[in-house]
Amino acid sequence: MLVGDTDLPVALETQSLAVVPRDDLLGDRVDAERDLVHELTHHWTGDSVAVRRWSDLWLSEGHARYYERLYSDEHGGAALESVMRAAYEQHDQWRHDEGAPAEPTDATLFKVMRYDGSALVLFALREKVGEETFGRIERAWVTAYRGRAAGTRDFIALASRVAGEDLGPFLRPWLYGAHTPPMPGHPDWQVDPVED
Ligand SMILES: [Zn+2]
Repeated sequence: MLVGDTDLPVALETQSLAVVPRDDLLGDRVDAERDLVHELTHHWTGDSVAVRRWSDLWLSEGHARYYERLYSDEHGGAALESVMRAAYEQHDQWRHDEGAPAEPTDATLFKVMRYDGSALVLFALREKVGEETFGRIERAWVTAYRGRAAGTRDFIALASRVAGEDLGPFLRPWLYGAHTPPMPGHPDWQVDPVED
């Protein structure tokens, strides 16, 4: 990691070096740490396991945002569940504006659907298979594809293998569908109507 004396407004993951603006280390403690967790997570998802094509970007940014949120939850920041619920409410709108998580339609890839919108897919998977199985999927992902490029189909296949069930019918609507599927374990969660 390189801490730059720059007013760049964001930290930036690149293949071999994360660039973190100085201000990230000077702000509110949990938020600053959250940024670092995001870039550190990219060492595994994004760098070690690179995306096969740009439409697989959700695998890189979704994981980075998920672990960032998890860290925050465990260190006095916003609760993971409330952040995920807020993302769920906006998910149809993001699908409409930016495309489904694994099917970006906007010319600018790095939009909220690839971050919170994709972290939400991982959260949904965790709610579906349970924390223990989800943890095994995650470890298997960064182990099996270490030093390689991998894509959405690889993730679905690997998750299915580890979980011992075909997760395609569950994950594909989350990743490609026009509408946000129900959140497992949270039947009360509602998606806000889309505005043009
Ligand atoms: Zn990132």
